[in-house]
Amino acid sequence: MKRLLTVLCLLTLILVVASCAGFAEVDENQITEIPEEEIEPQSIEERKEVTISMVGDIIFYGSVESYMKKYGDHYLLESYGPLMKKSDIVLGNLETSISKRGVPVEDKQYTFRGKPEALKTLKNNNFTAVSIANNHVLDYGVEAFLDTLNYLEKYELLYAGGGRNKEEALKGILIEKNGIKVGFLAFTKVVPLVEWYAGKNKPGIIGAYMVHEKEFVKAIKDMKQNCDVLVVSVHWGKESSTVIREEEQYIGRRMIDAGADIIMGHHPHVVQGIEIYKGKPIFYSLGNFIFTKSRNDLNNKTIMANVTVDKEGNIIDINIIPGNIINGKPTPMEGAEKDSFIKHLNKMNVNYVVN
Ligand SMILES: [Zn+2]
Repeated sequence: MKRLLTVLCLLTLILVVASCAGFAEVDENQITEIPEEEIEPQSIEERKEVTISMVGDIIFYGSVESYMKKYGDHYLLESYGPLMKKSDIVLGNLETSISKRGVPVEDKQYTFRGKPEALKTLKNNNFTAVSIANNHVLDYGVEAFLDTLNYLEKYELLYAGGGRNKEEALKGILIEKNGIKVGFLAFTKVVPLVEWYAGKNKPGIIGAYMVHEKEFVKAIKDMKQNCDVLVVSVHWGKESSTVIREEEQYIGRRMIDAGADIIMGHHPHVVQGIEIYKGKPIFYSLGNFIFTKSRNDLNNKTIMANVTVDKEGNIIDINIIPGNIINGKPTPMEGAEKDSFIKHLNKMNVNYVVN
């Protein structure tokens, strides 16, 4: 009797084990067979996305130039460069003319000019394009401005917001990465002289004041017809102020209503808050990036905004990398300093929280 019970128990155990193994086998087949053949090609298509890195004001002047002479041009992007190389597209604001000639505009407090070879450092660190719509690109006159365009072309950097005539300045650029067409347009709401505006046959830049509303809305709508994702750069805001003004908020939102997916702002020289409007980010000010030292400590802080976006313009991820600008060179913050800056940023943010 005892032996019979033992045999029965063993038989039951074998049956249980066998049925479990059988079940596992069927289950595995179900997992491996169906997705590989039918679902995967589609999911690869769905996974199409690009990561865009954006930074603020870049100059190669004054003490920045001295540090380049001392340590070599590559020194400037030793810290952020490796991070930029991980991105598909890198954008920034070229807050300077690039030339060996020209004379500074009269009665202007600050006038910037940088050596052409400095652009090579941007190119070598994965920069794709720069905005030239700002209050410094014509600091050394039209000749130096035209040199700036020529040198950007020579070093294979694209540019938006300015050009040899208004048509070129307004039309922006298209960058295709990972099967996604990314458009880039640039405007400025800080224009020192009316002569700086581009004309039908006149080199110059493109404005983003309220008076230009119709023009920038049309440019954005036109561009959005030719691209999947549209980044708009705007030079605006009050210098050294962390307050987001109503005018900038109105313009930023208007640009998104017209079809922009990401707004990258700069000019205040300090980082300002972030707003998510209709699911799209407005970085009101990315702050300085490659810049001279300021007595105001907030001017020596920066952020790089990394945005991952899909073909439909949906924002997949936002990653903010704060940094310090020391001796002209931006370097990502770490530890307690980073935590405290993110706290400061979150206090300024409209409706977005950086973790
Ligand atoms: Zn500026």
